[in-house]
Amino acid sequence: MILTLQCYQCGTEYEYLGTLPHPARCVACGSSCVPPAGSLTVVNSVHWESANGLAKVWVHTVDERDRPFEFEIAAHGSRGKLVAIKVDGVSIDPQIDDCMETLPPAVTAEIADLGVKDIETAKVESS
Ligand SMILES: [Zn+2]
Repeated sequence: MILTLQCYQCGTEYEYLGTLPHPARCVACGSSCVPPAGSLTVVNSVHWESANGLAKVWVHTVDERDRPFEFEIAAHGSRGKLVAIKVDGVSIDPQIDDCMETLPPAVTAEIADLGVKDIETAKVESS
């Protein structure tokens, strides 16, 4: 199968042809800051809630190449918003990648367990 991947570090788009999971390394700059290889597995999540009902959830996941992906979600009641992503320890812009517009199913399930069911992604609509 062919995958089109985009490096979060240098922006290079490249294709990967072969069996999954992909090698998790940018062909141009060698960065490991590229989309998940295979599926993500939730390691744990940290939930913090302030007295006024604002909450933050950090979901720690790993891909099939053992790279950590951290998703930070700000929530109020059942509504949440993806505010930050860290890939292999490097912060990336959640808007950088179309495939991050919808959260990975493992992350959605984890935060649904915490009562956050309505996720808005960071994509800014042009008005
Ligand atoms: Zn790169």
